[in-house]
Amino acid sequence: MDEFALIERFFRGLGSASGGVSLGIGDDAALLRPNAGMELAVTTDTLIQGRHFDAQMRPQDLAWKALAVNLSDLAAMGACPRWFTLALSMPTVDKAWLEAFSQGLATAADVFELALVGGDTTRGPLSLGLTALGEVPIGGALRRDGAKAGDLICVSGTLGDAALALRLARAPEALASRLSRPTPRVSLGRKLVGYAHAAIDLSDGLLQDLGHILKASGVGAEIALDQIPVSPMFAQHCEPERRSELILAGGDDYELCVCIPEAAFDRLEQALPTPLTRIGRIVKAPGTRVLNALGDIIETPLSGYRHFE
Ligand code: ADP
Ligand code: MG
Repeated sequence: MDEFALIERFFRGLGSASGGVSLGIGDDAALLRPNAGMELAVTTDTLIQGRHFDAQMRPQDLAWKALAVNLSDLAAMGACPRWFTLALSMPTVDKAWLEAFSQGLATAADVFELALVGGDTTRGPLSLGLTALGEVPIGGALRRDGAKAGDLICVSGTLGDAALALRLARAPEALASRLSRPTPRVSLGRKLVGYAHAAIDLSDGLLQDLGHILKASGVGAEIALDQIPVSPMFAQHCEPERRSELILAGGDDYELCVCIPEAAFDRLEQALPTPLTRIGRIVKAPGTRVLNALGDIIETPLSGYRHFE
């Protein structure tokens, strides 16, 4: 099966017809039309075997995760996903693998209502480079540089589940799926447009990712460790001495961290598609202080994952 037959069989027409496609797969480039008054949010994330996943990962989970991590970036901008491209490198043409992979990708693309509009197919070590395009009202995106002293710091869902799953020899399915099939908080991100001052998605751990907002915005943060939401599964399976490390620096959460004025939070809270929990405040003094239940500062030498350290 050559490259073109492969694209035809496994990738053409994949995803839901999200509109705005003047020309999809098959030419030298796709032609896309965002709606009037919108600007494009464009993001790329690559998953490489041996680095981001191992050979045992099921192709349908891999496909889900590859799209989900990109959609999480769009969610963090408040953007509505529209289209994506796939740069696929693989050592051989394994039809069973491609079948499962393309079905998993189609499922995810249908759930989040976007269409595959192009890509590239090469021979090489297994890697998946996805680029997702979404749209957001011009000037309305949730950037990293808008946090202001006094803003509440909130996170969606619960933190630490994926990091715990990675470290348990046999994680229960409900925890394992938080690692293999993360849920990008797309509807939540879109709801926050016009209300939140800044947002980021949590891929490398709360402290490191919040740190990006603080640096871009020129502010600092105070976080109450015991306010950070964890799941019942996490509470049950995590050893107490690992708890703060996994919550603060575990990574792979794909939840949103949001800086929002208190009044806006109070107005929105009940109407949100995913719960947001307040965990701290933006302050003027730079740096992050993590406080215990008594309000004392806890030492945290934790910084999260970095590829080139
Ligand atoms: P070119 O040589 O002009 O770069 P290609 O032969 O690489 O074109 O690709 C042919 C068409 O198939 C293009 O429209 C491209 O976007 C699409 N395509 C290639 N690989 C993939 C893939 N893995 N998934 C989706 N579309 C793909
Ligand atoms: Mg090409």
